[in-house]
Amino acid sequence: MPASPATDPRARLPSLDRLMEQQQLDVLVDQWGRRTVVGEARDLLTSLRTALDAQSRVPSAPELVAMLKQRLTGRPGRGPRPVWNLTGTVIHTNLGRAPLPASAIAAMAAAAGSSDVEFDLESGGRGERDHHVERLICDLTGAEAATVVNNNAAAVLLVLNTFAEGKEVPVSRGELVEIGGSFRVPDIMRRAGCTLVEVGTTNRTHRADFEQAMTATTGMLFKVHPSNYAITGFQQEVSITAMAEVAHGHGLPLAWDLGSGSLVDLSRFGLPREPLPSDALAAGADLVMFSGDKLLGGPQAGIIVGTGQAIDALRRNPLKRALRVDKITLAALAAVLRLYGDDARLLSELPVLRMITRPARDIRLQAEGLAGPVADLLGEHWEVAVTALASQIGSGALPVANLDSAGLAISARGERGRGKAVEALQHQLRQLPKPVIGRIASDRLLLDLRCLDDAAALLQDLEGLRTP
Ligand SMILES: *Cc1c(COP(=O)(O)O)cnc(C)c1O
Repeated sequence: MPASPATDPRARLPSLDRLMEQQQLDVLVDQWGRRTVVGEARDLLTSLRTALDAQSRVPSAPELVAMLKQRLTGRPGRGPRPVWNLTGTVIHTNLGRAPLPASAIAAMAAAAGSSDVEFDLESGGRGERDHHVERLICDLTGAEAATVVNNNAAAVLLVLNTFAEGKEVPVSRGELVEIGGSFRVPDIMRRAGCTLVEVGTTNRTHRADFEQAMTATTGMLFKVHPSNYAITGFQQEVSITAMAEVAHGHGLPLAWDLGSGSLVDLSRFGLPREPLPSDALAAGADLVMFSGDKLLGGPQAGIIVGTGQAIDALRRNPLKRALRVDKITLAALAAVLRLYGDDARLLSELPVLRMITRPARDIRLQAEGLAGPVADLLGEHWEVAVTALASQIGSGALPVANLDSAGLAISARGERGRGKAVEALQHQLRQLPKPVIGRIASDRLLLDLRCLDDAAALLQDLEGLRTP
């Protein structure tokens, strides 16, 4: 017998229009856009109509709104969301790499409207995009000229294509690397239209290997920073000076993909020394490429420095137009480069360097302050301990250097299901309005506090665990 309309809960569900009139939905509409919320609300009502039967209680309006919110959280599609990076990896590619300094954020906002990005205010004619940063980059690297493209992968593509399309490029077998996230040297070579010529062996390559590889169709020599892996032990690489001699002896350019490309000598902070772009140029490289958002600490960009002639050739390649950066990137990059003029400001204001150089005792003190409140918040089923941890710089910078760090180790009490419980907690933390990202090791959730600049704000956000 069909239920009468008065008792059938399906008939008492609100219509889509009525549901959308709920004021509490305004926040969701702001976050997701009206179209997405209406689509999700329609799906929710449809699924309730099939699930409810005559005995069911009809959800109240606030309950429907909560269900809708639940369906939308964790769903992608509202743009990148800020997160707490407590992974211990400072330059984390999946978490947006370098957090930008306040001055760069302000510069991006200021440039967001109309700006003189390609307009010469003096003459009133067309301007050059690169001029907003070229002088700054040249001052910091000693280069004659510089240009900027979308990222370092684009920089490599542009350089190879400009100087060696249809030609051979000898590269040491020890440098044919894959950098996480699908950047592989042999693939990018092919796409640039070059023929890769492998020279030497994985662990040892000699100057004579390059000399023997030179032919009438060689276009350039190319060196790659191995980034996220290291060859140790019985190894030999050809110095940039020797490679420059071979290249120039044949009238060809030498380019070095430096990867992270720090602009300051990290050995000043007790870290292994990385080659600087200025060293690479002084040693004879004609072109050096590096990322804007790795150790440099700026926005995503690929920076190319070198001789005026080589940079001019890059600017004439139509690919440069396809790979160009926008006004927001240029504004942020200029602001970050300006910090490099002043050591004291650099360390206090540039998040990447501040986080990398943060002393472990500082981090431990912060962890000790947080452990109690976090334990209170999580309740009796959890144990929260302060623990020593090892952070990494990330993004291929100094892969073998660990930084002494500290943080919280959270484990479930009780004998069984501890792994599952910790995974569930990790998932809950990812569903917070500002997600908290840690890592799991041996059934413990580890929150490395190296990148935590505001403990009070984190605690406040963790309060969200009480009211799911
Ligand atoms: C990271 C890296 C790249 C890619 O740089 P993106 O800025 O991520 O495009 C290329 N080459 C090397 C050696 C790298 O370390």
